Amino acid sequence: MRGVVMYAPGDVRVEEREDAKIVEPTDAVIRVTAACICGSDLWPYRGIEKLNGPTPMGHEYIGVVDEVGDEVQNVKVGDYVVGSFVASDNTCEICLAGYQSRCIHNVMMGSVGTQAEHARIPLADGTLVPTPGEPDKDLVPSLLAASDVLGTGWFAAVAAEAGPGKTIAVVGDGAVGLSAVLAAKQLGAERIIVFSRHPERQALAREFGATDVIEERGDVGAAKVKELTGGYGAHGVVEAVGTEESMWQAIRSARAGGYVGYVGVTHGVQLDGLKLFFTGVHLHGGPAPVRRFLPELIQLIWDRAIDPGKVFDLTLPLDEAAEGYKAMDERRATKVLLTL
Ligand SMILES: [Zn+2]
Repeated sequence: MRGVVMYAPGDVRVEEREDAKIVEPTDAVIRVTAACICGSDLWPYRGIEKLNGPTPMGHEYIGVVDEVGDEVQNVKVGDYVVGSFVASDNTCEICLAGYQSRCIHNVMMGSVGTQAEHARIPLADGTLVPTPGEPDKDLVPSLLAASDVLGTGWFAAVAAEAGPGKTIAVVGDGAVGLSAVLAAKQLGAERIIVFSRHPERQALAREFGATDVIEERGDVGAAKVKELTGGYGAHGVVEAVGTEESMWQAIRSARAGGYVGYVGVTHGVQLDGLKLFFTGVHLHGGPAPVRRFLPELIQLIWDRAIDPGKVFDLTLPLDEAAEGYKAMDERRATKVLLTL
């Protein structure tokens, strides 16, 4: 089967990989019908995360079940399915509490590499959620977004306690930040402030429900949030970048007693304990338990109540994945969809 393999920073190739097959009786194999490139795939592409030799890429997917292991009961051959970027049993205490991405049996889908024609899905019963049927073509990008960026933005907005009457600020105008804006709006937030310097991303943020845009970053940006909120700061803040500066920007944008939902994969963040101590904010984040939200998100998309697929601004065939990585690295694209 054809699949994306990263050889070294900046070196992405599409080549013949070993066919996906059932290994455990709890596995399924899906025919991937659309995949995409994640902001987090850029960390190794830029050499910030180390690669251990040629690495199959991709952890977001939508597809059709091709084959199931003997113990799989909840999905069958022919089902159209969406799954999270982390496979989970969905039965352990951590899963039942809604933290499937930290399931005691979790498997990171990045280790499978879903930017490929087929993918092995471990723990298929707990991981895959069938859609109500074969989706209309125009719903595919949104369903694919649910696999990671939408689910992650949604979790971040929930962790930031977005809800009626709340002011929510969003640090990061990538696909996850924009999805968090959409989520905060759906969850009933009254005011949604997004940090962004990009006109197109500002426009999409407003379409998704942002009421205010701040172009400044860091402490200056955080001070602007305080200015807009009578000196208090936001009730909740989403952090969707993962740097030391963006973490402080988020924490300082929140009021005392407020909530920061952080979902940007942190790189080099070392928070000063004493500074943190005096902020009095709740910090809640990590790899998003997308599986918790998938049934609800699939239904909202199916009913055309939300259109998160708009975060994709470049579509390429799988064979041109290298160009997709380049476009995202050079910020010519927010998020790239790969067709199969
Ligand atoms: Zn579990």
